[in-house]
Order: sequence, then structure tokens, then C-alpha cells
Amino acid sequence: MGKYNNTVQYQTFDDLLEIMRNSSNNYDVKKIQKAYSLAVEAHGDQKRVSGIPYILHPTSVACIVAGFGMDSDSIISSLLHDVVEDTAYSLEFIRKEFGKDVANIVDGVTKISKIKLYSREEQQAENIRKMLIAMSNDIRVIIVKLADRLHNMRTIECMPEQKRRDKSRENMEVFAPIAHRLGMKAVKDELEDLSLKYLDPIGYAEIEDTLVLQENERDRFIERKKKEILKASKLPSGKITVYGRVKSINSIYRKTFLRGKTIDEIYDVFALRILVDDIKECYNMLGVIHDLYTPIPNRFKDYISTPKPNMYQSLHTTVIDSDGIPFEVQIRTWEMHQTAENGIAAHWRYKLGFTRIVNNKKARELDENINRIKDTLRAQIDTDDSTDIIRNIRNDFDQNEVYVFSPKGDVFNLPNGSTVIDLAYLIHTEVGNHMVGAKVDHRIVPIDYKLKTGEICEILTKKDSQPRRDWLDICKTSSARSKIRQWFKREKRDDNIIEGKTMLERELKRSNISLNDEELEQLLHFMLKKNKFNTVEDLYASIGYGGIQLWKIMPRIREEYNTKFKENEEETTVIQTAPARRKRATTGVIVDGMDDCMIKFSKCCNPLPGDPIIGYITRGFGVSIHKRNCPNVPKNLKDAEEPERYVKVRWEKGVKDNFRSTLEVICSDRTGLLADVTVALSAMRIFIHSLNSRQLSDGKAIITATIDISDREHLDLVVNRLTSIKDVIEVKRF
Ligand code: MN
Repeated sequence: MGKYNNTVQYQTFDDLLEIMRNSSNNYDVKKIQKAYSLAVEAHGDQKRVSGIPYILHPTSVACIVAGFGMDSDSIISSLLHDVVEDTAYSLEFIRKEFGKDVANIVDGVTKISKIKLYSREEQQAENIRKMLIAMSNDIRVIIVKLADRLHNMRTIECMPEQKRRDKSRENMEVFAPIAHRLGMKAVKDELEDLSLKYLDPIGYAEIEDTLVLQENERDRFIERKKKEILKASKLPSGKITVYGRVKSINSIYRKTFLRGKTIDEIYDVFALRILVDDIKECYNMLGVIHDLYTPIPNRFKDYISTPKPNMYQSLHTTVIDSDGIPFEVQIRTWEMHQTAENGIAAHWRYKLGFTRIVNNKKARELDENINRIKDTLRAQIDTDDSTDIIRNIRNDFDQNEVYVFSPKGDVFNLPNGSTVIDLAYLIHTEVGNHMVGAKVDHRIVPIDYKLKTGEICEILTKKDSQPRRDWLDICKTSSARSKIRQWFKREKRDDNIIEGKTMLERELKRSNISLNDEELEQLLHFMLKKNKFNTVEDLYASIGYGGIQLWKIMPRIREEYNTKFKENEEETTVIQTAPARRKRATTGVIVDGMDDCMIKFSKCCNPLPGDPIIGYITRGFGVSIHKRNCPNVPKNLKDAEEPERYVKVRWEKGVKDNFRSTLEVICSDRTGLLADVTVALSAMRIFIHSLNSRQLSDGKAIITATIDISDREHLDLVVNRLTSIKDVIEVKRF
């Protein structure tokens, strides 16, 4: 790679076999050999840009991945990672020959390769990082991708300048931060150093030259310290390893060029690293070091008792020797060392054979004061299941967001539940205003389609197309809604007037007020001055685009009407309220402070009698009833866009009716399960609106059933019955 670091550029299949032979892992060598044969055949006489046979790229990637300690499927996926993309073999074929895990990893790596990752905006970079992790349902996808990228960077010398810089920037923005988050320090450091070399060749060379210049001096220093430490440790040579480690060029660069320090001012340009067998020895060695040299105050860090979020563990201290030279010392066990270098990848090693070592350790006597620390570590290893760690990493990312691509590969980040309309307005107001439809993954979708992470969405526009009013109810984000309103306000004054007048008249009719145009104008006159409108038409227009909300002004209008017109109208009023009363009785919901209002049950959460509920005053459709904990209702009503619209509602006593309710049945997948659920439901004489099941990747399945339920009690009964079915894990109300 340069004067300072030397990495082998290409590794062969023989090298891979050698790495596997020297490993303590058990590999499925036969299957790996089969994958290699396929890769050889598939890539045929393809060449890299440098002229080197293509097959040496996948074998090199496989060597890197094997070096992390990864399992057979990861190695096989590495060998095959470019086969689907670049050759005639299909993913189906790979699934058939090597199983679904391998196919899934290869597919993931191929997909990531298609995304345009480089972006000038920091926000985009963050989105891309989050999305790559969200997309990788198997974290091995990311690990193989990192190895692929690392190898491409090791061999990028022969690529054109622009390409080298673009890739380097992607590494700095996307891949190195991901490697860091996964605790894969060795990959992170190498990616950053290789990238820096192309992004700032002069700065890189300057640091590299200084390091080379100091090399002999440093080696002698390290040799001296090593001897002193080994002697003071009183440990036999097999029990302790001491060596010098130089900080990565990129991290020196950041401290010198970006923080204005000189290399001599950086204490930890190089550090001594001490590897021992167990935690007790770590703390013993810390004592030895502090006896031998003078510790610099505030430079001691105990990452053993408090590991870093990416699982890193070590003791760090900076000391000064008798010549006044400061240097850092890092102390850790071999296991910690594996995790420090390879992070999450090291967990596959734990999975494959580390448990044995932990058990031996258990047998050893340990001092009282380090038992606490050991427990922490063991607790971590016992939850050995690497999926736990992945889940933790995932949880760092907001579950309430989705990430989608434009066809060009730009990533957009939206709140969960966003529709294609929201995306259109997020891309650009004009794109939203001219949208006619959308394609998701190349297929036309309805306008209320809810986007999911990883989907490629293309917004279809037409020059003369215009937004529709019902979009206001479909879209999820308030920014899209306000842009749509804005458009109607600006573009559609005439329509707004008609729409606004119609809405007002509808509302008046509901209040049994019927007036001719002249009388209406007379009635509304008092509204104009207050709202700085010149004409009644301004008022209608404002109602039409949603600037003035009818439900807000109606009480005042009714009041005005009562004083100005009521006498003549009294008879009709009495007659016409009767049907409205009847309607209220059937819904079973009472709205506080409102007698005759229309009620509808929201489709998003399907409230049942007994559920805590809340009402929302819609524009023109009365009050819609939501569950209090419906995701569409803010937890704190003060956060709502228009909190005044929420009203208290309660169930009438003893209401029983059929209410639509959706249940999710989570189960271990097996044949006949769907049938069992159906039989159970029909045995309870429950009407089923829809029923479908979906497989999850972990051998589980979700059955979603929309059924009629009469109340909470009934619901509990149904849930209990379904839970009792064999292999059903959990039944949740949606
Ligand atoms: Mn590749």
C-alpha cells in the first residue's frame, strides 16, 4: 500500500485454504471448494482493470472475510459475491446450490453495489449509513461488503483519478463509519488510510514520511520498553505479549492537520500493547506499568468495566518514562483483542468455539474485586447470540423511519407510514404538484401506497397535472400537507370559492340553516372584518383551501344566525334533528359537549368498546373516533398540529355491536397453521374480513386477520383461543 504499510494485494484460493487450516473454526471445506469452482467457471477469463484474472478478487475478499473469523457461508458468499452481477448465473441457482443464507448475502451485497453512495451532503451520508444497516437483514451482508470494498481499495491504484477520489469519499462517509459502528477497527483504519491517500496525497505523504523517518528510533524505543515491561511482569513468555502499535495515518492526520497539533504533541502516535490471558492479569499489568513509569493524570480509561458501545474493551493509560518520553499503553486479553480488531465479526468466532475458553476460565480462582468485572464480561458473552448485538445496533437507528431510493440512487428518509405523495413533496414541491402516480420497484402503485425501507420509488409527473384535495387526507407528513394547501390557496382561487361555499352550506344544512345567497352574505358579514377579508368570496376561498377551519367558526355562525334569523325557522329545526339523534345511538359513542354530530370509526386503529378513545373533529365528516394510543394520535395532544380538534369522547354503557379489528398472530411457521387459525375463528362464529400470512426470515410467520369483534371482553376471548393453538407464539391487536 505504500512505504509504511504493506498489504498483500491479491490472495489466491490456496491462501484461503491456508487461512482456514490455521484457524480453530470448523469449515465446510467441500462446500467452499464447490463455490470456488463455480466462481472460477462463472468469471471465466474475465480480467480486472489492472489485467489480473478476475477470480483473484473474490478469493482475496474471501481471505479477508476468513481472516475476520467468519463462518463458511460468509466465505462462500464472498467467493460468489460478483457472480450474479457480472455473470450468467442467477440468484435462484445460487439458492439451490448453496442455500438461502448464501443467496441472501450475495443478493444483499449486489443490491448495495447498485446504490449511489457518494453524496455531498452530510445528512445524506447519515441516511445512507442507516439505510445500509436497515437493509441488511443479515449483518454478514455488511461484513462481506466491507471486505469487498477493502479489497477494491487495496487495488484501486490502476483506476482513474476521479474514481479513486469518489470511492475514497464514500469510504470516509459511509463504509468507515459503519465499520467503526460494528467495532471493526482494523477495517476502519485501513479504509481510512487508503482513502486519505487519494483525498489528500500530500498530507498523507508528509505523515507517512515522518513515521518512516522515526521508524528506527521508535523501534529501538519499543524494544527497550518491551524488555522493561516483560521483566517487571514476572510472567513466563507464553503468558504475555508486548508489541508497539502505530496510530493510523488518518487519525494522526486528523489530530495534526485538523486540530493543529504537531506529531510530537500527540501522546499516542504509537502505543505499547500488552496482551494477556485474563482480566485479572490486565489489572495486574496496569499496576506493573504504573509502578514502572509515571502515569499522566486523567489519561487512564477503563473500557473493561465500561466497554464502548461498539463492544471495545481495554485498559488505556498514558505514562512518562524516566527520560521524560510520554507513551500510551493498552492492556487487554486476547479475546478483547479479537473484538477490538474485528468487532462484530469476532462474534462469529465466539459462536464457533469461544464458549469453551470461557468455561475453562470459570474454573479459575479470581480475586474478589475483579469478579464484578468478570461478571459484566460474561454476561456479554453469555448473551453470545450475535443477533442481540445486531438488534442493539439496529435499535440505535430510529425504527420510525423508512429509507427509500430514487431511481438515480438518492436516499430519502421519511417517517414510517409515509406515502408516495409525501416522497414526491419531499423531493421537490414541483414534483409533488405535478405527480400523476408512482412506481415502486418498477411497478405502478396506488397513490396511498406506504413506502418501505429499501424500495426504489419513481415519482411519475406530468406537466399539466395538479394535486388533488383528497391527498390532504392521504399524505402522512405535515410538510406535504401544507405544501398541498399552499398550492390550492395560490392556484385555485375560483375552485376554492366554490369548494368553500359548498362546504359551508353542507355544514349549515347539518345545523338546519337554509338561506339564500343574499341572506348568507348578510349572515357572514360579521366574519369579514375580523379576518381582514374584503369580500365573502375571500372567506369562501379560505375555507376551500383549509386556511379557515369550518369546525372552528361554525359555533359563532350558528350564534349569529340565532340572533339574526331564528324566529322564522323554528318549526323546521325541530323536525329535522330527529334522524341525527337516532344515528348517535347506534354508534355507541358520546362526544362531550356535542349533541348531534356525525361519528365514524377510524380505519387506522379500529377502536372497540372498552378501549380508551379520543375524538377528532374532521373537516366536513363529523368526529372520527380513534384509540387513544393510535399511532395517528400524538401521545401528547399539545404536539398535534391542531390540538383544538381533539375532543373527549366515551363509550355508551353496554354497547355491543360488530367492530372490525385486526389481529396479528405470530407463530413458528408450519403447514396447516393458517387452516388451524381459520377453523378456530369460525368455530367461534367470527366473521372474517381478511386473512393472510407472511413468512419471516427467522422461521416465523405472521398471520394477519381482520375480523368482527363486539367488545373488549370478546376480544380477550378470541386472543386466548388463538394463543392456545400449537406453535402460536403471540397474538397482538394491530
Ligand atoms: Mn467485488
